Amino acid sequence: MSAAEIATHCPYCALQCGMRLSSDAGGIAVRGDPSFPVNQGALCIKGHTAAATLDHPDRLRTPLLRGPDGALRPAAWEEALDRVVLGVREVQARFGRDAVGVFGSGALTNEKAYLLGKLARVALGTRSIDYNGRFCMSAAAAAANLALGVDRGLPFPLEDVSLAQVLVLVGANPAETMPPFLRYLEAQRAAGGKLIVIDPRRTRSAEMASLHLRPLPGTDAAVACGLLHLLVREGALDTPFIEARTEGFPEVKAEAAAFWPERVERLTAVPQAGLMEAARLLATGRPAMILTARGVEQQSQGVRNVFGFINLALALGQVGRRGGGFGTLTGQGNGQGGREHGQKADQLPGYRRIDDPSARLHLAAVWGVSERDLPGAGPSAYEMLSTLGEPGGVRALLVFGSNPVVSAPEADRIAGRLRRLELLMVSDFFLSETAALADVVLPSAQWAEEEGTMTNLEGRVVRRRRLRPPPPEVRTDLQVLCELGRRFGHASRFGFEGARQVFEELRLASAGGRADYSGIEWEEIDARDGVFWPAPGQGHPGTPRLFADRFPTESGRARFHRVAPTEPAEVPDEEFPLYLTTGRLLEHYQSGTQTRRVAELIQLAPLASACMHPATARRYGLRDRGPVTLVTRRGSGRFTLEVSRRMPEETVFVPFHFGGEAAVNRLTHGALDPLSGMPALKSCAVRVEAR
Ligand code: SF4
Repeated sequence: MSAAEIATHCPYCALQCGMRLSSDAGGIAVRGDPSFPVNQGALCIKGHTAAATLDHPDRLRTPLLRGPDGALRPAAWEEALDRVVLGVREVQARFGRDAVGVFGSGALTNEKAYLLGKLARVALGTRSIDYNGRFCMSAAAAAANLALGVDRGLPFPLEDVSLAQVLVLVGANPAETMPPFLRYLEAQRAAGGKLIVIDPRRTRSAEMASLHLRPLPGTDAAVACGLLHLLVREGALDTPFIEARTEGFPEVKAEAAAFWPERVERLTAVPQAGLMEAARLLATGRPAMILTARGVEQQSQGVRNVFGFINLALALGQVGRRGGGFGTLTGQGNGQGGREHGQKADQLPGYRRIDDPSARLHLAAVWGVSERDLPGAGPSAYEMLSTLGEPGGVRALLVFGSNPVVSAPEADRIAGRLRRLELLMVSDFFLSETAALADVVLPSAQWAEEEGTMTNLEGRVVRRRRLRPPPPEVRTDLQVLCELGRRFGHASRFGFEGARQVFEELRLASAGGRADYSGIEWEEIDARDGVFWPAPGQGHPGTPRLFADRFPTESGRARFHRVAPTEPAEVPDEEFPLYLTTGRLLEHYQSGTQTRRVAELIQLAPLASACMHPATARRYGLRDRGPVTLVTRRGSGRFTLEVSRRMPEETVFVPFHFGGEAAVNRLTHGALDPLSGMPALKSCAVRVEAR
């Protein structure tokens, strides 16, 4: 590495590829870091072009305030922060403390997520805090916590993926969402491993598979039960493992008995032969690994879908075995760390429950407050957004790094709610669709302008490094959070000089929790290419692999859970005869606030296409690249048609990275998974019109 180069990590997805940045008169150069083991120098096109956002002309460079004429105008920081503090005080005086809400993000560093939770619980005294990870990881997280005792997306390092003799990807498309992951798939296949992909679409990942099962959207749980049925029938279970290390299997076995292949084919449209072939591969290939992602999780029964696949991995005795087990592919850059340190409605730092008396006492001691003053659990993200401006709901909302106008289901309704607030403050580096509705917009620093830590999909804590300072009138979110803490009367509790000091407090706060960072030394993160939590206590080397001997549950055993498959919250009918499903493109990230501003990316993927099988397009008299209107019970949107044989005939796919008329979440369904608060973003009923 040359003297002027810094080693940091990509600002986008949860792979957190290592990258090196350097700056000269020609601009900022980005290259993959060959020494970082996760990506070994590879980057996808998003990573390669990430520096384009830093000096982008759209960049916010000063706070903005909404004036009496309804327009946003530049303002000084003092004036902007005064407006926030006054607005919060007025709302709390009139409506109570919980009427101020905080909305965070899985893109925030660990230190920001931690400080955001502390700001809400200590300085604002509100229970109303949640984050956009609720729309991303919450179903898998809840299922893993209940079944395995802890939620770490991958409880093993990525290198284990290459060792799996059978690898099942369920609702996951890493070939397009995180291309450097492909090296693990390629190594797995080169070693003779089989890849099974379960996904309604013939994605690029599915094209690599030995076997592709294509269930109807929202029927994954029945597929899992059908596979367990066949494995029981074939006597392919690991009975010693089940007896020694799990509980609850008899109930799950009894449930699976009702999912014989003919019935599963009727429920899911997966042919019996395909199901039997998948069961045969799972019965014979060792080690076997199952990885889920948003396709299976963003459903109104997302947790139970995930239970189905955890049950399979447990029944095969693969959890805790090297090259085997169960994991989930986290999406957002700090989707993992962002759900560990207290910006979730029901959680305190260290992945502690906010209703756990000992956790409350621990945090109260770290924060120097009375346990009685800590609020309890608040509403989940979509519940909070759904009641904005209502009696008993949130009246002032502080948003950090999130764009719910594009990413929340029933997005038009949510935008209407945001307009009803007494105060909406948004901190972001571009004027996102949500920031455009705000009363106060704060310009924040970008990834190459700040220090901090992120936790990737493996639970590996890595360092984000600053290449250059932010522009003169731009502040880091940590500076803003500290200033707000001070203005709300807690100067001593928010007197941090920078990310490292916050990290040191986070270590104390997490000590003894499920996600224990107490043994992670700032310098050791560099020395060891990141440190895997849990690292309980000084000098701990970190824990790359979990579950080898026991599960962190009360009994030390993993827990099987009944799946009870049901229909999705909304299924096609005469009026809305097709399924609508949503997902990602290689070229874009989340709500597209950043990537829609990168010239190379927008050239490659300029708009939201509605993707449909040629036979479906013919049925509706539609032509490729022509206009198409999609209508659901929530509203309608206009898209460009893309005809593709990758699609099943009964399903339309639209990527969710676009705003305005093409924001597909204006059409999606807000039904929530009862166990996790995850909305049913992946499946609803739609009608197609040729206009
Ligand atoms: Fe960045 Fe993810 Fe692409 Fe890696 S795969 S370069 S982390 S967006």
